[in-house]
Amino acid sequence: MGRKRKRIVRTKPIPSLPTVFDCPICGTTNSINIDIDRKIRTAAILCGKCKIQTTRPVRPIEERVDVFGDWLDSLVEESEKEQESPLSDDGSDITDES
Ligand SMILES: [Zn+2]
Repeated sequence: MGRKRKRIVRTKPIPSLPTVFDCPICGTTNSINIDIDRKIRTAAILCGKCKIQTTRPVRPIEERVDVFGDWLDSLVEESEKEQESPLSDDGSDITDES
């Protein structure tokens, strides 16, 4: 006779790394896709919203989240460079009043 089979449903939480990210350029949530090509060790970053596209070198141990963090760091560096005033002070602060 047909035995009742106990169905064991395992709800194992899979610790998955995020594969989509928020775009730091246009601010859209989960719009950044990162495609890692291990053969050429390059990661292609693409925003589905503002279509910003960039590639970054990727090390074998690196995952999407690493690539994304690395990209963010480089963006911050760039913006910090821009914030530095290109108009250098010509030293006219020191007035020679005597
Ligand atoms: Zn974007």
